[in-house]
Amino acid sequence: MYDVIIIGSGPAGLAAAIYGQRAGLSLLVMEKQPMSGGQIINTYDVDNYPGLQGIGGFDLAMKFRAHADALGASFVTEEVRTVETSGDVRYVVTDQNRYETKTVVLATGAVHRKLGVPGEDALSGMGVSYCATCDGAFFRGKDVAVIGGGDVALEDALFLSRTSSKVWLIHRRDEFRGAKILQDRVRETENIEILWDTTVEEIGGESQVESLLLKNKKTGAETPLSVQGVFIAVGILPDSALLEGIAKLDEGGYVCAGEDGCTSCPGIFAAGDVRTKQLRQIVTAASDGANAITSVQSYLAR
Ligand code: NAP
Repeated sequence: MYDVIIIGSGPAGLAAAIYGQRAGLSLLVMEKQPMSGGQIINTYDVDNYPGLQGIGGFDLAMKFRAHADALGASFVTEEVRTVETSGDVRYVVTDQNRYETKTVVLATGAVHRKLGVPGEDALSGMGVSYCATCDGAFFRGKDVAVIGGGDVALEDALFLSRTSSKVWLIHRRDEFRGAKILQDRVRETENIEILWDTTVEEIGGESQVESLLLKNKKTGAETPLSVQGVFIAVGILPDSALLEGIAKLDEGGYVCAGEDGCTSCPGIFAAGDVRTKQLRQIVTAASDGANAITSVQSYLAR
């Protein structure tokens, strides 16, 4: 019987492993693939993790993992199929094993919804980004596009307008889904131009994004647009299915949990991008891992 099983080995899960080992807990980290780091292993350059400016995402992930290894954390590569609870015991079930634990920290993260157009995967990290606050600084003085019409797209467009020379905001309908106040700010910002009823058919470029192929949904006309960066903000999908029916999720599928990581199910904690929170970044994910372990300790000592 483990004190805690941590599901997920991104920054939140690895920080939880580090704090858990230092707290002397018996723990196991479950990862789906034999590669720790989560989303950041695909991040070319991390420019906002304090003290490590400009470090590559992969290198940062390896540092987190090495830190957890040095403290003696155990990892298994098995996909978790279900989490079950019975009294004070939690079961973490994979195709190979049924693990018993007193607590669970769910740190499975979230994935950005993709557009699913040609060029998107090939140029990811080469001008295609899903995070303006992470990557916006690389497009200072350049022309960029933001795709989407929700709060994130509007906030991204405003954020980028401060440093990029021109921001094309491309939305598939003729009205935004995002908050009115953000819509007003977007309309008042000189270097943001809105393209309504427009979809992106293709992202073009050799080794970097160079252009988008746009289609006007009303006329069917296709036109190229020259940009150096494209920020895709068409929604986020939290990986919270394991807690469906066990803990409360919000309407977007995020696990309802505050900074302490406590969910509506005692003994089950959520950390990182999978939980309800304001800012989904490496630094906040790492902080969540630490907080969740502090809550695990309180729970075990109750
Ligand atoms: P969202 O609200 O679901 O908006 C996604 C946008 O992407 C929608 O405008 C949608 O178009 C568009 N879209 C979806 N699939 C698309 C596709 N295949 N091609 C083109 N466009 C596509 O997602 P979000 O903006 O990421 O926000 C997520 C949640 O966080 C929301 O609940 C949001 O309110 C919340 N949030 C709140 C704040 C805040 O309060 N300050 C800040 C950020 C986020 P349609 O409109 O046509 O469906």
